[in-house]
Amino acid sequence: MGMLVDTHCHLDAEHFPEGPAPVLERARAAGVAHMVVVGVGSNTETARFATTLSAEHDDVSATVGMHPHEASCFDEAMASDLAALSHHSGVVAIGEAGLDYHYLRSPAEQQQQVFRRMIALARQRRLPLVVHTRAAPEETLAILEEEDARDVGGIIHCFSEDRAFAKRALDLDFDISFSGIVTFGRAEAVKEVAVWLPADRFMVETDSPYLAPAPLRGKRNEPAYVVHTARVLAELRHQSFDELVAQSGRTAVRRLGLDCSRVT
Ligand SMILES: [Zn+2]
Ligand SMILES: [Zn+2]
Repeated sequence: MGMLVDTHCHLDAEHFPEGPAPVLERARAAGVAHMVVVGVGSNTETARFATTLSAEHDDVSATVGMHPHEASCFDEAMASDLAALSHHSGVVAIGEAGLDYHYLRSPAEQQQQVFRRMIALARQRRLPLVVHTRAAPEETLAILEEEDARDVGGIIHCFSEDRAFAKRALDLDFDISFSGIVTFGRAEAVKEVAVWLPADRFMVETDSPYLAPAPLRGKRNEPAYVVHTARVLAELRHQSFDELVAQSGRTAVRRLGLDCSRVT
């Protein structure tokens, strides 16, 4: 039996002012068995929100971390708050963390420092790391290598790089998570990676509220729409939808240690 998992979504009130309940209901109705809610922000409120939501719902897990966009907000008080929150039983990963040199909302040097701190937290807590990388492929891989991130492993989320990057990520014990980008017409390099990857090394996500997959591109994204991304991946890999869901679900469960007791 398959378990459709949205391995990465942001459901906080900034994006869903109506609250998460109707979003979760629509996801369940669409067949989504589990959602990983990402707890990042300029303070630790979103991390707190993610852990609370995971406590309230069996089919929700949480991450806590520091996004590179907000690296300039990071201080020691946040570091200890995040470390404390990471002990919550619903937390399955540290992140997202990494480098975003496309927007450069925080200076590159601060992004690198915070990225290293999050790798250290993942190691300390023995949790996998969720990596965000944009316009900084070499720098991201260099830090993962320098910090021995293979000890913790994790996920390259919202994959938008090429096959050479994917190969190095797999060698560092990072799996690949595909967002709606793989459904877009011009994402040839990402599609090529989707075809090439070993069956047990990838998963699917929405990155809600961003990057709604085709044919919903431009809409506010939500976990229910992960179905479209899974369908396109199945087509690319010449597999049935059910087989793709089962494989990607098993990978997510293994990587994140998800509780799949609800799945029949
Ligand atoms: Zn991201
Ligand atoms: Zn994200």
